[in-house]
This record gives sequence, structure tokens and C-alpha cells, in this order.
Amino acid sequence: MAGYWKLAKLYEYYSKGAIMEKKTNNGLPSEIRYCVNCNLINQRTTGKNEFFHTPETIHKTVKFDENGVCAGCHFVKKEFDEKVINWKEREEELKQLCDANRKNNGEYDCIVPGSGGKDSIYAAYILKHKYKMNPLTVTWSPHLYTDVGWKNFQSWLHKGGFDNYLYTPNPKIHKLVTREAVLRLLHPFQPFIIGQKMFATKIAAKFNIPLIFYGEMQGKGGKEVSHKAKTFAESGSQGGFEMDPLEGKKFEDAYLGGKQIREYLDEGVTLNDLESYRPLNIETIKKKKINFYYLGYFLRWIPQEMYYFAVKNTDFSPNPQRTEGTYTKYQSLDDKIDGFFHYTSYIKFGFGRAMSDSCEEVRHGHITKDEGKALIKKFDGEYPQRYENEFYDYISMKKEEFLELCDKFRPDHIWQKKSNQWILKKSL
Ligand SMILES: [Zn+2]
Repeated sequence: MAGYWKLAKLYEYYSKGAIMEKKTNNGLPSEIRYCVNCNLINQRTTGKNEFFHTPETIHKTVKFDENGVCAGCHFVKKEFDEKVINWKEREEELKQLCDANRKNNGEYDCIVPGSGGKDSIYAAYILKHKYKMNPLTVTWSPHLYTDVGWKNFQSWLHKGGFDNYLYTPNPKIHKLVTREAVLRLLHPFQPFIIGQKMFATKIAAKFNIPLIFYGEMQGKGGKEVSHKAKTFAESGSQGGFEMDPLEGKKFEDAYLGGKQIREYLDEGVTLNDLESYRPLNIETIKKKKINFYYLGYFLRWIPQEMYYFAVKNTDFSPNPQRTEGTYTKYQSLDDKIDGFFHYTSYIKFGFGRAMSDSCEEVRHGHITKDEGKALIKKFDGEYPQRYENEFYDYISMKKEEFLELCDKFRPDHIWQKKSNQWILKKSL
């Protein structure tokens, strides 16, 4: 019976037109390919439920079509096709959604999570000033604020005129779970990703604000999400969008930083210590009808334009220097650990920060494919030196230890060592 089931699944896979690809043990395609349109590497992972992300997790990766074009390119292409998306109608939908949730009694009627990056600046600003909503902005603090990040966070509120809840999870515990996430998953941002999502829903419940707005749609990163999915709930089974991330299990059975919560408890960490990461229970979410909406569903989301908007309206500052690992100065600048998030992604998947930034710009026609390629070749995988001491201090690890750990996470099919240097087996 199990054999039949596997065959049926295989048939379903083929019939959807997917190319049969050989996979490594942890689910990455064995053969490296780059998108013929935007240069994206096919090793890029898509969503997963982070509460069950362990070292054994089998990754899902971005789909490529038979012509070698990635799902992210297909997604953005649709945004430029008026036959697929009528942006006027989409904006009307937004107005209706706002009207249905507008409170008109002084209470907040929507939540915008963010830390003062260009996307959250834009979202909060237009919801308040154009659509006349009363947003509450909520922020799960970065691990370690950069100066420019703190300044941008402040001017977001000061110039935009927003109320904000800034939540700082117990830094001793956050350091501990971040260290575990590095050790087990080589993923310094994993506890942050969990926490900031949980925090928004808890505030939504506390203030009875069911409407939470995120910015960009996940499909742009290559996730398999329909253009018609405007909420988490409609994003269906795609990992990372769960409204009930515990999947009916106990919090103690879930994982944080790749380590089961039960194990932390055995070692003397208490449930009180981990409360910041506990999801809101699904009954409350259903009762209060809490849902995440993507503003990028209703309004065309072009990263460069968000940047210009933020500069003009809230004095947003780019990085004084080029951001390490890439050529841009305006993408996620607020956390000193950010560079290591992208660096580790390059180690594990060959997907670095310059690739992340340039693929987006190629798809939007701001730069050409060849320009993107040159930028990736020049900057991808650059070691983030600027805040290294703070990072190693934060995760209580020596640099040599971290670099040794990185080498353990380099997949054989992506990396090879030549004259004592790690190089990509198949470069762009
Ligand atoms: Zn592509």
C-alpha cells in the first residue's frame, strides 16, 4: 500500500509538469542550476514550519520550470501582466478590507509588524495617511541594533507619527536559543523569525485587532504561493504560514533553534523563560479571527520604490557604507547579526546576499541579468567582518569555532576545496 501511495505521489508530481530532480539526503537538488532569467540558484529553500525545523529536516526548494526559469520570476512576471492582475481592482479590495475593519472610535484597527525597514515604513505610512486607518506598529527587537537601524526605527515613528510596541525578549534567553540555532541549524535568525511572528498575533489578541499587515508577498522569494492568496490562511499548506504552528502538539514537543523545548526544560530553562516564543493558541486565533494579510497582494510591491518612499517620507537613511556581502545600501540594515544570516545561507545553499538582492532587481528590470551576475560574482559570500566581534560575543563562540562549524555545514554537492580554499563546484 505504501508503495502504491508513493507511486501516486510521483504521478501527481510529474503531472504538474515538475522536472524530476535527484535530491540529496536533506532535500536539496543534487545538480546545481541557476535561473536563466534572474540567476537564482536552485538550492534556495522555500518555507518550512520553524517550530519543527531540526537538523534532520528535509528542505523544499524553489521550483524551476522546464525552461530553467524560477518560480520567483514567474511570480513577478504576473505582476506586470494586466490580464493576470488588475491593480485597480486589487486596491478596491484593500479599501473594502479597511472599511470592514475600521473602528472609528479611537481604537487601533490594524497592526503593522516591523522594525523601521523600508517595507514596514511604507506599509504603516500609507495605511495611516492614505487609507486613513489607525495602525499600531509592533516591533520584535533586533538581536543587536545597528546605529543606522535604531535611527531609522526612531524616524519611522517620529516622522510617520505612529504608536509602537517595542518588545525585547529576555536577551539572556534569546542569546541562548540563537546559539543553539547556530550550532544545530547554522541559522542565527531562526528564533527571531519565530518570535516576531508570534508577537504580532499576541498583540492582535490583546487589543482585538484581527487585521495584521505584512508587506511583500512570499511568492517573490520563490515560494509556491498563488498570486490569489492574500492571507496566511489562503497560502494553504506552504510551510511557514501556519496559524497553528504547533500542529496540535504541545509546546514542549516543538523545537526552538533545532532543539526540542523539552530538552531546554530538562536543562533548567523554564517555561516562563520561553514564553516569548509560545504561539497564541489556535482557538483564540479562530475566535478573534486574527489573520495576516499581504499588502503586496493589494498594491504592487517594488523594493526600490519602497526605499525612495521611505527616504522621502521618514528620512530613512541607507547604510553609510556598502552592506557586506552585497552591493546595496538599503536592504535590512537594522541588526548587527544580519550579515551572518546571509553568510550562513551562502554556506548552506550557495545563496548569498548579493544574489538575494540582485535577483529581485533583475526581475523588476532595474538591472540586467548580466549586471546581476557580475554583482553576485563580486560580492556573494563576502565574510561580514564589520560586527563580527559583537556576533561572536552574542553567541558565545570563538571565530575559529564558528568557521569550523560552517565547514561542517557545507554540502558536498555545492562545495569543493581547492588549494585550501572553498569554492563553489558549479559557479554562476
Ligand atoms: Zn528567476
